Amino acid sequence: MKQLPPDTVRLLSSSQVITSVVNVVKELMENSLDAGASSIDVKLENYGLDRIDVRDNGHGIKAEDTAVMAVTHFTSKICSNEDLERLETYGFRGEALGSICSVAEVAVITKTEEDDISTQYTLNFTGQIVSQKPSHLGQGTTVSALKLFKNIPVRRQYYSSTKKCKEELRKIQELLMAYAIIKPDLRLTLVHNKVGVWQKATVADHRGALLATLGAGAVANLLPCHHHQEQPEIVLDGFFPKPGADCSSTSSSNPDKTFIFVNNRPVHQKDVMKLLRQHYTAQYPGDAARNRYPTAMLKITVPPSSVDVNLTPDKTQILLHNKEAVLTAVDALLVSLYGYRPDGDPPAEKQ
Ligand code: ADP
Ligand code: MG
Repeated sequence: MKQLPPDTVRLLSSSQVITSVVNVVKELMENSLDAGASSIDVKLENYGLDRIDVRDNGHGIKAEDTAVMAVTHFTSKICSNEDLERLETYGFRGEALGSICSVAEVAVITKTEEDDISTQYTLNFTGQIVSQKPSHLGQGTTVSALKLFKNIPVRRQYYSSTKKCKEELRKIQELLMAYAIIKPDLRLTLVHNKVGVWQKATVADHRGALLATLGAGAVANLLPCHHHQEQPEIVLDGFFPKPGADCSSTSSSNPDKTFIFVNNRPVHQKDVMKLLRQHYTAQYPGDAARNRYPTAMLKITVPPSSVDVNLTPDKTQILLHNKEAVLTAVDALLVSLYGYRPDGDPPAEKQ
């Protein structure tokens, strides 16, 4: 038996952290949001396989930090295990930039408020700076990842069909839409092969963000709902279809339009999703409920110490310590909105 060479170990772990094009966009956007950006531009070439640029107007990276910005497990966000209990940033593992360096050619342009001009850094496979030169961008950071998965032929091959590429672009747009909804004051643009795909301006609140993201037709049929409880502390803010309104999206033809967030993080929470759908489809008898998913947004806020976001490298699967209490609270909110339980009397027999 032999120990694997360090480069192979690195490639293996990096390709587990960075699994797809949408994953790169997600990591870079979250870095921009953690840097306090109010504007993010995402540009793709050849569906992101040839080039991904994520540009922000955040606080930038201090000159003294640039040497380690892409070195694995270097982060400016946490210092200890205890910090994991009070996590307020999207990032915390110090793995993304370094991992992207191992599966793509990466350059970072950054400028802080204190810097006179921006500097462009070119990074190598292990995230070390190999060259730097002055550049002309304003405050903020632009990360460019070129030739994604050039050294992982099977992963690159996965994107050989246009269908797969289009599917990836749709997922990227959905990801941007999720951040657009949870961050009303964020300005966002998505450009593919120099053509604008989607954009959202700064808006005042979640309703404005839903309007900008889903359109007036969808939002006209949504009602805002709020629930706040202590012990365990849970705050719910949502927009759900008005009772009787048809706000269905079918998962096969439309993008998924049920947006769930836990502490501002877009997440997949099957149980919560199932509950929302049960309540919504209870108004459709029998077969009419099939393939109907509600257009809805649910923002769950709980103490950071009661969430474990470190289950999967992409951080979209999370563990909620008070999941039953959260489900009960969501259920109560929906019962008060719709006036009946999904497993109770059908709406027609209500009153
Ligand atoms: P993490 O986000 O977990 O800290 P990353 O590898 O994604 O790890 O980033 C490493 C560090 O580089 C961050 O902690 C941050 O200090 C810096 N950084 C990365 N991207 C940006 C950005 N867009 N703006 C400011 N700082 C950034
Ligand atoms: Mg990060």
